[in-house]
Amino acid sequence: MKAFEYVDPTNLTQALGALSPSRGRALAIAGGQDLLALMKDYVLQPDRLVNVKRLDQTVAEADGGGWRVGAAVRLADLARHEGLRSAYPALAHAADEVGTPQIRNIGTVGGNLCQRPRCWYFRNEEFRCLKKGGPRCYAVDGENQFHAIFGDGPCHIVHPSSLAVPLLAYGAIVETAGPSGPREWPAADFFQMPDRNLFGETVLGPNELITAVRLPALKNVRSGHYEVRYKQSTDWPMAFATVALTMDGSRVASARVVLGAVAPVPWPSPAAEAVLGGQVVDEAIASRAADAAVRDAQPMSGNAYKVQVARTAVKRAVLRAAGLLA
Ligand SMILES: Cc1cc2nc3c(=O)[nH]c(=O)nc-3n(C[C@H](O)[C@H](O)[C@H](O)COP(=O)(O)OP(=O)(O)OC[C@H]3O[C@@H](n4cnc5c(N)ncnc54)[C@H](O)[C@@H]3O)c2cc1C
Ligand code: SF4
Repeated sequence: MKAFEYVDPTNLTQALGALSPSRGRALAIAGGQDLLALMKDYVLQPDRLVNVKRLDQTVAEADGGGWRVGAAVRLADLARHEGLRSAYPALAHAADEVGTPQIRNIGTVGGNLCQRPRCWYFRNEEFRCLKKGGPRCYAVDGENQFHAIFGDGPCHIVHPSSLAVPLLAYGAIVETAGPSGPREWPAADFFQMPDRNLFGETVLGPNELITAVRLPALKNVRSGHYEVRYKQSTDWPMAFATVALTMDGSRVASARVVLGAVAPVPWPSPAAEAVLGGQVVDEAIASRAADAAVRDAQPMSGNAYKVQVARTAVKRAVLRAAGLLA
């Protein structure tokens, strides 16, 4: 690992001041679960690390309803927070399934949302692919079994964050801060496709930070989250989904269906949402929604199997949201 300077700010202003407008030179470090691995592999070689894990670690109920979760809140604390578990069970479920207890005990919300892609070409210092300023995407003709089945490239990563998907489904807001002050982004706008931002995955500039995420107050919403893994292991899911159903009695008034690990960003499915609207959910409706969710998938040479995996995740998340699956 290349030598670096370590800055330990005590407040947000100091932290922002220690970052740099040049991409990659000064990086925020929270739990370090992702960042240190990339540094050890010489994929990232910052001159300076800025510790942000002592910044906002609070979970608080907002005045007008809903909750605010500081960026430095640890995944384990999010997963076991009673208020969040009861208001946003899919988010707590997603946090609870990340990695191992050790990772959840040190990994943070901000770090989880900003973790970098798992593409093995990206993580290997020997491959200078498109995302690292090189000439081509090696996944196109190479090993792509865990890559995207949606999106047109030119980079075919899947977004690695488990929290991002339920945050979109619940309509969360991501709060950020930078040299031009605080900003707020609907979670759906925070993550960016490679054709808009090839070298990063979010709207954040090099000298900006996530400060918190805000979850809206929900009324008559039932939600479910389902992850499919290669085996019962600590690895990232192959595909997963969060479904949030706003109910009118026993019928779905409106639905949010968001898929994970299938595209470079958390992937909403308006087609599946349209199937669910106005329906009383049963197994047949859940199947139709799942079919609709994957209808436009465009798998690569080695990942056609992911279409069925994603379909299963959507169907089971719908059933779980409707209370038909434990
Ligand atoms: C074996 C294993 C299994 C895993 N499984 C999963 C999984 O199933 N699902 C999943 O989602 N994750 C998984 N992870 C990844 C893990 O969740 C993330 O690495 C962790 O949440 C990152 O949090 P961190 O605080 O350690 O981030 P760090 O490593 O400290 O930072 C990650 C990135 O975020 C940036 N960053 C950190 N905080 C901020 C901030 N406030 N504002 C802006 N940028 C910031 C850093 O600069 C860095 O680029 C797994 C990791 C391992 C090792
Ligand atoms: S998918 Fe993206 S990160 Fe992976 S090799 Fe292609 S361009 Fe690089």
